[in-house]
Amino acid sequence: MHSTQRENSIRPSETHEAIRERNQRRTRDNSKRGSIDYAAPTAVAKADLQTAFASIRELLGGRQHKFSNYDVLVEVTNFFLMRNGPASGSDPVRNPEDDGHCFEATDKNKTEDRMFLCTSSSVNNLVARIEEHRRCCGANLKCERTNLIGHAGRLHFVCNSNDAKHRWTWYSSSTLPNGKLLVNYRMLHAVETSGMLYAQYDALCKAGNMGVLGKQYRKTFISQYGPIVERSAEESRSDALLEEIAFYGPERRGGIEVMSDARHATRKNAKQSDIVFLGDRTHKCVYKTCVTREDDTCSQRHEMAGVRRFYEWADENAVPVDIHAHDRNASVNKFIREERPETQNSNDTWHVTKQVGREVKKITSGAQRNHGKTWHADLSDKGASIKTHFYWCMKHAKTYMRETGHDTNTREEACQILRQRLDNIVNHYQGNHGECHPTSGCRSGSYEPTWRLIRSPVAVRLLSNFIRSSVVYKQPEHFIDCKDTHYVESYNNVVLVYTDKRVVLGNYTYKLRSDMACLDWNENVDRPATSTVAPEPDHRRPRRQSGYRNTVRKTSQWKNRIWREMMTSIFTID
Ligand SMILES: [Zn+2]
Ligand SMILES: [Zn+2]
Repeated sequence: MHSTQRENSIRPSETHEAIRERNQRRTRDNSKRGSIDYAAPTAVAKADLQTAFASIRELLGGRQHKFSNYDVLVEVTNFFLMRNGPASGSDPVRNPEDDGHCFEATDKNKTEDRMFLCTSSSVNNLVARIEEHRRCCGANLKCERTNLIGHAGRLHFVCNSNDAKHRWTWYSSSTLPNGKLLVNYRMLHAVETSGMLYAQYDALCKAGNMGVLGKQYRKTFISQYGPIVERSAEESRSDALLEEIAFYGPERRGGIEVMSDARHATRKNAKQSDIVFLGDRTHKCVYKTCVTREDDTCSQRHEMAGVRRFYEWADENAVPVDIHAHDRNASVNKFIREERPETQNSNDTWHVTKQVGREVKKITSGAQRNHGKTWHADLSDKGASIKTHFYWCMKHAKTYMRETGHDTNTREEACQILRQRLDNIVNHYQGNHGECHPTSGCRSGSYEPTWRLIRSPVAVRLLSNFIRSSVVYKQPEHFIDCKDTHYVESYNNVVLVYTDKRVVLGNYTYKLRSDMACLDWNENVDRPATSTVAPEPDHRRPRRQSGYRNTVRKTSQWKNRIWREMMTSIFTID
């Protein structure tokens, strides 16, 4: 009885089993349990911290779970480390206040990573999205896959949160009102204005691993872009015309002076030819036309067709043409003589001088058996100087006109003077300098000729006949203006940047590229900082050089202009 009472007075928690179990649990728990000892600065601060702790627990409890202090601590430490700690475990920990450069060492396996173009605003947008995500979800974000849309990247992000699995897609470029990505349009603009061929662009992009735009995409782009280029080139030419007209003082007879040349698109049997007219003073392109095989099957006739168009245009726009210089195209000569009486035809002096240099060889050298018949030894050392002499005769005729006037009488006098000067070449080489030009070296006392005097009457006759049969002597009116069309030739060099002679282009593309060449030329020709045209030297035929080829710094404001116009048109349509 007594012992039963004692048995009953032992509480269940004090039984041996209970104590053993408790002790066991205590040792097990000690490996998991922990406590953080801290001292808050004030009792209020401690209370604040406890309140914050409680509210975090409550927020976590919003997910219908029971959360302990441990869960709160994990959540808080993770949150801090995610913001400030190593992101993927490989990057060094960075101080957020350090505004230095942020480099990423390339992983050996990532050297063939895809590349894409990205706008600054898209990066800002990406940062904003990441921050937004972090506010609502503590999990890490990862780019799951990258697709290229042309040159833009489409990145799929997913977070590693266990329950939410947030996903979103980010585009590296902003979108234009027409639904196209900005970077793609900008890239096409760059490709077009660089003169690059599609095949080159394609090869560049594929080798660069940076996305490429298909032909169809490009076509859509060009359909809107092309007319803008055309209009811009048209404006550039009409500005150039006004500028050219402004150069001539009111005392001029009226009309502008132009130089023209034809350029075939390909070397043989060209599909297209550009006929370009540059102003004589500004050297800017005032008119340009493209004659295609559809207009005339024979490319040799393209130049004449272009010249006709030019005069039609000039008549329509009331632009009188005073002097028209070209490379001595026979049908153009004939056309101007017969159909444009108010225009003076002028041929390029460089071409004709070169021709003289070629032909003079017939009288300065030859087979021994023909000596004294077709050539003479007295002339053999004079080939190059006869050529130069021709040039200076033309130059003096021009000077005469500049000093005397420009009317029909003066032109006739200038023709006479040119012929007399050419005739005088024979006297000069015989040592009679009475008729030589006052500024010539031979008129000064100390002149010592570097050539032998002509003594043989046969040589005199040969030289005299040669001069009188030359085209300059026969048609002096084409050479008294002493026009040099080398500017048109260097214009054609610029066209080469945009249209390769080896590549056959469609008519539309060809015209577009030729318009770009025109814009480029008109902006850069004779730019003061870069022009390399030296003033014509006094005693030497000026070297054939251009105001363009050696340009050091080129500007391309026209490209920006076209881009802005393109954007304006896209933003106004929608
Ligand atoms: Zn998430
Ligand atoms: Zn002389």
